[in-house]
Amino acid sequence: MFKDLKKALADIKNLEVHYNHVLKDYTSFKIGGKADIFAIPKSRAALVALLQLVQDYKTPFFLLGKGSNVIIGDRGYRGLVIYTGELKDVIIKGNIIEAEAGISLAALANKALAAGLSGLEFASGIPGSLGGALFMNAGAYGSEMKDVVKEATLLDYTGKEYNYSKEDLKLSYRHSILQEKPLIALSVTMELQPGNKEAIKAKMLDLNRRRKEKQPLEWPSAGSIFKRPPGYYAGPLIEEAGLKGLRVGDAQISEKHAGFIINLGNATAADVLELVRLVQDKVYQEKGIKLELEPRFIGEF
Ligand SMILES: Cc1cc2nc3c(=O)[nH]c(=O)nc-3n(C[C@H](O)[C@H](O)[C@H](O)COP(=O)(O)OP(=O)(O)OC[C@H]3O[C@@H](n4cnc5c(N)ncnc54)[C@H](O)[C@@H]3O)c2cc1C
Repeated sequence: MFKDLKKALADIKNLEVHYNHVLKDYTSFKIGGKADIFAIPKSRAALVALLQLVQDYKTPFFLLGKGSNVIIGDRGYRGLVIYTGELKDVIIKGNIIEAEAGISLAALANKALAAGLSGLEFASGIPGSLGGALFMNAGAYGSEMKDVVKEATLLDYTGKEYNYSKEDLKLSYRHSILQEKPLIALSVTMELQPGNKEAIKAKMLDLNRRRKEKQPLEWPSAGSIFKRPPGYYAGPLIEEAGLKGLRVGDAQISEKHAGFIINLGNATAADVLELVRLVQDKVYQEKGIKLELEPRFIGEF
């Protein structure tokens, strides 16, 4: 069966395939074991063919964007990881941008800047892909994907294509329809506003400077480890509970921003999980507030 699958994978055009592939280099946390199969579709057709094969062979799979909001288990992933990073075409017509899901938000924001379009400045420092940003309705500094998304082309797990309007996408705080249904973002259409290039650039630089000042960007992390509890911010709650700097193995509550867990070098997913539980317990004891994880936990721990 595995031999047949291997052969079928080799027959798909524009598909790069690796076996027993280390995942940590594809995550911002630099944590995670190996995937049995790691595939990189280089065209939409290759992604669709891959999904059809996954159905035929009943292979578990997981879609990976820039890996900036996942914590992958130390024992890796049993099945297929599909990396979207090579699907990154962009078409700009007037103030409408249609981009494939694998493009990084930084590259996308730079394309908008070059076209003199405003609205994506907030996204230029978020280290994710467009697909991951739609999945999470990523946001920062008072703006979020919801403000710019017009519609998206999605695939179901058999590779069938659908057009979803902004309303259908159900974008709300760190949430979208992609978290409710088995759907994959193939491309996203955004509506921006004509703007002054110098002003767009200045705003991007200013937001990224503020990000650098506040966040421990010098260390690998998965960004904010907890969602914002209603009415509070996770960082100050953790700081007030006296947990700044707390460490399990090489996983540490950042001294610079208590809402981040950083990897000091060789942190494992198990270290992160233990630290997360310590923080959740202490904050609950002291404040009566339940902190919920923001990143997705993937694979075997
Ligand atoms: C230093 C740092 C700062 C950050 N700052 C912010 C911030 O300011 N605001 C914010 O909102 N987030 C922030 N994040 C979190 C993260 O960057 C965002 O959530 C981002 O949108 C995740 O995109 P990704 O491509 O890395 O997703 P991944 O981590 O690769 O995947 C996350 C989830 O999205 C799914 N997914 C990915 N691509 C697709 C697709 N094409 N179709 C369907 N599902 C898909 C995955 O299966 C997974 O479940 C930060 C992270 C870091 C490390």
